[in-house]
Amino acid sequence: MSIQAKTSTFAGNFFMQALLNIQPVLAQPRKICIVHHYNPDADALGSSLGLYHYLSKKGHQVHLISPNNIPDFLLWMPDSEKVVIYEEEQKEAQHILNSCEVLFCLDLNHLSRTRIMEDVLQNLTCTKVMIDHHLFPDTIFDFGRSEPSKSSTCEMVYDFINECNDNALIDTTIAPCLYAGAMTDTGSFKFPSTTASVHRMVADLMEKGLQTAPIHQAIFDTYMENRLRFLGYTLSERMKLFHHAHSSLIAIPKSDLKRFEINTGDTEGIVNYPLSIGTIVLSIFITERENEIRMSFRSKGDFDVNEFARTYFNGGGHKNASGGRSQESLEITIQKIEQAIAENKSKLIQCYNELPF
Ligand code: 5GP
Ligand code: MN
Repeated sequence: MSIQAKTSTFAGNFFMQALLNIQPVLAQPRKICIVHHYNPDADALGSSLGLYHYLSKKGHQVHLISPNNIPDFLLWMPDSEKVVIYEEEQKEAQHILNSCEVLFCLDLNHLSRTRIMEDVLQNLTCTKVMIDHHLFPDTIFDFGRSEPSKSSTCEMVYDFINECNDNALIDTTIAPCLYAGAMTDTGSFKFPSTTASVHRMVADLMEKGLQTAPIHQAIFDTYMENRLRFLGYTLSERMKLFHHAHSSLIAIPKSDLKRFEINTGDTEGIVNYPLSIGTIVLSIFITERENEIRMSFRSKGDFDVNEFARTYFNGGGHKNASGGRSQESLEITIQKIEQAIAENKSKLIQCYNELPF
């Protein structure tokens, strides 16, 4: 169900208007800018590029700005080379934002998720639109839709195109972008977020000519040797299991990243492996980056890692997949995690006992 969130009085409106109310604004060619969250994943980039191609086809002048670099495994997406990287091309990005009439924020519901772009976006006076599936949206958007029950922002962009009666415009440029985010956000259609509607979307995209196998290959079968060796090392040497609390922690120090020459995108997905152990309900994966510790949380069943990330690590996301950051040292962060696991032990045991197998 869509949420109609209250907007701040600062925005001049008391209510965020429903997404489809943006249609009259788009009835004439507009200067549109699309942004997504920092460290874009397939859903952020796929939904943004899907919308980019659709709005371009509708005659708008569209730009896509990513706060930072796009990982290599997503560079196959059509026109990904046209994305302006804010971190590297700030002047060009600022120029685009200065003349922007409508800003679409995709796969994010707080401007803070863009990190380095937060202030500049906050100060824009243009119309702000949000399309997102995370919990607890901010109230600064003029139009938008927040649907945490949706598989992905990609599926929400697909719905938007359909509701604008433009299903016929979805072609083999738009389809792979939308498929990529729906596929990765549902863990290749296996997480509880996998709905009948996302399967219906995929069926429609395939009938329009989408080839799915090359997308799986591009995303999962293009690693370098070092990434696979790093995965093996990580699971054998760095995975610590807390059997009594049905939890797992993998903590990667900077030195490991250096030794295996690991880049940002290379750690994607490793957090899921401990959940393949039958008794593990909570998996935590943390990496020591330049200025912070990056944290990923995943769970099976009823254990809510969105709440866990919010309560202990100022993060958030979804019930079974969330993230956060820590400014403390790796050692202190590990201690805090162990403490948080201990505090949640009875809940974790209960969630384990309620698993259906
Ligand atoms: P990942 O572990 O893949 O980085 O993130 C998992 C999920 O949690 C994604 O849906 C992501 O958008 C969300 N997420 C990651 N970090 C944060 C954070 O710091 N705050 C919030 N609210 N969500 C986050
Ligand atoms: Mn998403």
